[in-house]
Amino acid sequence: MTDAASATGEQNWAGNYAYRASQIHRPTTIDEIAAIAQSATSIRVLGSRHSFTDIVDADELIDLSCYQPKTHFDADAQTITVPASTTYGDVAQSLAPYGMALRNLASLPHISVAGSVATATHGSGIGNGNLATSVAGFEYVNTAGEIISVDRSTPDFDGLVVSLGALGIVTAVSLGVVFDYQIEQHVYEDLPLDVVGDQLAMILGAAYSVSVFTTFAGSLDGQVGQVWIKRRTDGSDRSMDAGATFLDAPAATMQHHPIPGVDGSTCTAQLGVPGPWADRLPHFRMGFTPSAGNEVQSEFFVGSVDGPLALEALRNAADDFADRLMVSEVRAVAADELWMSPQYRRPSVAFHFTWHPDSEAGGAAGDLVRAVAAVQEALGPFAPRPHWGKVFDADGFSARDSYEMFDDFIDMAQRLDPHGVFRNDWWARHFG
Ligand SMILES: Cc1cc2nc3c(=O)[nH]c(=O)nc-3n(C[C@H](O)[C@H](O)[C@H](O)COP(=O)(O)OP(=O)(O)OC[C@H]3O[C@@H](n4cnc5c(N)ncnc54)[C@H](O)[C@@H]3O)c2cc1C
Repeated sequence: MTDAASATGEQNWAGNYAYRASQIHRPTTIDEIAAIAQSATSIRVLGSRHSFTDIVDADELIDLSCYQPKTHFDADAQTITVPASTTYGDVAQSLAPYGMALRNLASLPHISVAGSVATATHGSGIGNGNLATSVAGFEYVNTAGEIISVDRSTPDFDGLVVSLGALGIVTAVSLGVVFDYQIEQHVYEDLPLDVVGDQLAMILGAAYSVSVFTTFAGSLDGQVGQVWIKRRTDGSDRSMDAGATFLDAPAATMQHHPIPGVDGSTCTAQLGVPGPWADRLPHFRMGFTPSAGNEVQSEFFVGSVDGPLALEALRNAADDFADRLMVSEVRAVAADELWMSPQYRRPSVAFHFTWHPDSEAGGAAGDLVRAVAAVQEALGPFAPRPHWGKVFDADGFSARDSYEMFDDFIDMAQRLDPHGVFRNDWWARHFG
């Protein structure tokens, strides 16, 4: 039965955004979902609420966590089909009995598959595409209440996957799988930023998945806090040997958290202890609060060839944003063909920023806006594309200029949703 509860007081995960929707539907059957889609005039689907903006808001919201069609592993197709609201942590558990795995994960396993795919959420690795690139097909309900299945053979599939939540209600997703693998995670400390800038491509390519963390504090002669190296134990990633030092930076001798001063026990095991892919690729462990909790995030992607110069530009501009920063993370993401993916046809370096919310760190209201704008301005010469689920300055970014397939995507949205039922304020602000 549909339980249309009041949405008053409901917030996103970080608590920096309160939904303005007047009700949340919690359907349990596909027929109920179809009926809701047919009658709604302004609606969005809630994932696990880890985005930091009003990208998930409308007059009505729909929470699919009570709609749980059966998970299905297809050994021939090498796919697993899961309910849209399934978290990546649960996908990993479902795959374990089959000895299978996903290619990559984000920094946390807590996020829903459909919500992550809709925003092109990513992990790291020069050979790893974002999580949307693993999508082999999905089922969605359109505003006419029709249930539609699409897969890689569907025309314009590449435009449908990173939907930004604007194309329909995704009810189940099929993900491509690979054979199970083990990862060991090594953390190195105090690598100078100069070395990172000089050897960025080598560092980000040193293993299956690599993250560089810095606070940009004392930036011009500052140190990188940590380099996290996640290497496959089967050697198939041709990663570096994990020694006592990495580019003269010493290996950590205790478990670390990316944010300086935060207890590392909530993070996945480090110190080179091998373990299952799903317990090492994310930084944060299921069952614990990931990252800081009370935070806001931004992230921008530039072409990997521009990575070193972009890093230098950020170091030069650090006085304008470092006071708001808890930590920044630099990762690599492979290019893909998905129309609205920030990595569309561009192997990318990702510059992520975990910010103190405005009420924290003695910052005046609006300080965060200033810090985000400063980052965007510094990266401006490198045509940065923002992470869709994180905070960015709408005035400093043109999606039309940044995305070759922008007009095709807008046409597709118009065709699939002629009355704009899924197009919300966020859409209007960024896409006009
Ligand atoms: C602590 C933390 C760490 C993070 N780490 C990373 C990281 O490592 N890499 C990274 O790239 N991002 C990261 N993020 C960002 C996060 O992955 C994205 O914001 C992602 O969208 C979250 O998924 P969600 O399920 O919470 O989606 P939500 O925020 O709930 O929704 C996002 C969008 O998806 C749409 N949507 C959700 N479900 C459906 C559906 N069934 N059908 C249609 N549309 C749907 C929503 O309407 C909305 O438009 C992090 C966020 C946090 C809070």
